[in-house]
Amino acid sequence: MSNASRQLIFATNNQHKANEINSILGTAFKICTLREAGLEIDIPEPHDTLEENAREKSLTIYKLKNWDCFSEDTGLEVDALEGAPGVKSARYAGDHCSTEDNINKLLSELADQENRKARFRTVVSLIENGKEYQFEGICEGSIGFTRSGDHGFGYDPVFIPDGATKSFASMNLEEKNKYSHRKKAVEKLVAFLNHKL
Ligand code: IMP
Repeated sequence: MSNASRQLIFATNNQHKANEINSILGTAFKICTLREAGLEIDIPEPHDTLEENAREKSLTIYKLKNWDCFSEDTGLEVDALEGAPGVKSARYAGDHCSTEDNINKLLSELADQENRKARFRTVVSLIENGKEYQFEGICEGSIGFTRSGDHGFGYDPVFIPDGATKSFASMNLEEKNKYSHRKKAVEKLVAFLNHKL
């Protein structure tokens, strides 16, 4: 199979993540999301680490489709909250909570807190020919006092990467990719895949 036609399943239903990863991969690799692979499933994230959750997602899909596949799990780690919400970032304000609820809780936990330091950490898990490989990407930054911007998703309106003066949600995809945790992890994935061709 040629480089240009290599296809991988990306184990997600999150179209924002798929768009970001497509913009990073360019034409070298083609991904299909779970829906595009004909899978209407929501894979649980029951573990205490990003690494284990990412592995669970990629292995589940590999076993179902027997096709090379990758997943990613991302957490927002806030220093003043001892690393929370971390692996629980999606459910920070409780099961079935909205993004708005999560951001409200974060801003209220950090009210009057001077130390706003935080990072996004992404772990990509690739299953290739039944073997797992992991790649990490980290973006250091800080949590703003209020929301700003309307691009992106999740905690983007309150996360300002180091070296920038505005939130991820105030950036287009190209700008976010200059700093992005996901971009760093996916670049390692692509380097690994290219090396093996
Ligand atoms: P998960 O990787 O889908 O479990 O994401 C965990 C939580 O972090 C969810 O609430 C996401 O919306 C949020 N999240 C993941 N990646 C990003 C990002 O790049 N920017 C902002 N929020 C994110």
